[in-house]
Amino acid sequence: MLTIEQRAARAAKKRNRKIAQAYPLFADQFAVSVESQVERLKAQDVEAAQHLERHRKFDEMQFALGMKYREIAKSEMQENVWQDLENRYQRIFGKRDISGQAAFLADWWHCALRDNNSAWLQNNCPMSEWHALEVYQRAGRCPCCGRKLFLSTEQKKPEYKQRGFIHSK
Ligand SMILES: [Zn+2]
Repeated sequence: MLTIEQRAARAAKKRNRKIAQAYPLFADQFAVSVESQVERLKAQDVEAAQHLERHRKFDEMQFALGMKYREIAKSEMQENVWQDLENRYQRIFGKRDISGQAAFLADWWHCALRDNNSAWLQNNCPMSEWHALEVYQRAGRCPCCGRKLFLSTEQKKPEYKQRGFIHSK
C-alpha cells in the first residue's frame, strides 16, 4: 500500500505530464502541487468510504426484504411449492458468492410472490400508484405485483384519452 504522500506525488506527476502535453506553453502556470493532490485524494477517499457504506446498507436492506418475502411466501404457498422454489434458489445461488448482491434474494422471492398471485404482495404493492395507470389497466395486470387491473367504464369509451403526465391547458 502506498502512503497518501506517495499517491499524491504520483497523481501530481501524472496530472502535470498531461497538462504539459495539452498546454505546452502554460505548463508552469497550470501545474498542480503535491499538497493539492493530498487534499484531493483525502476527499476522494472519504467519498469512496461513504459510497461503500451506502452499498453495504442497501445490501442489508435487500437481504432483510428478501428474507421477509421468503417468510411471506412460506406462509402463503403450499409447502411443496415453496420448498421447490427454495431448492431452486439454493441450486442457482447457493454456491455462488452473492455478498453485496442480496438483491438476487429479494428479486427471487418477489417474483415468486408475484407469480403465485400473493394476496399480501397485491395489497402491499411497492408500485401501487401504477394501478391507476391506463397502460397497465389495458394490459390487465400490474407488472410489479400481478394484481388484475381493469379499465373503468369511462376509459372504455372510444373518445376517452388519458391526459399525459405533462399536459398544458
Ligand atoms: Zn401492483
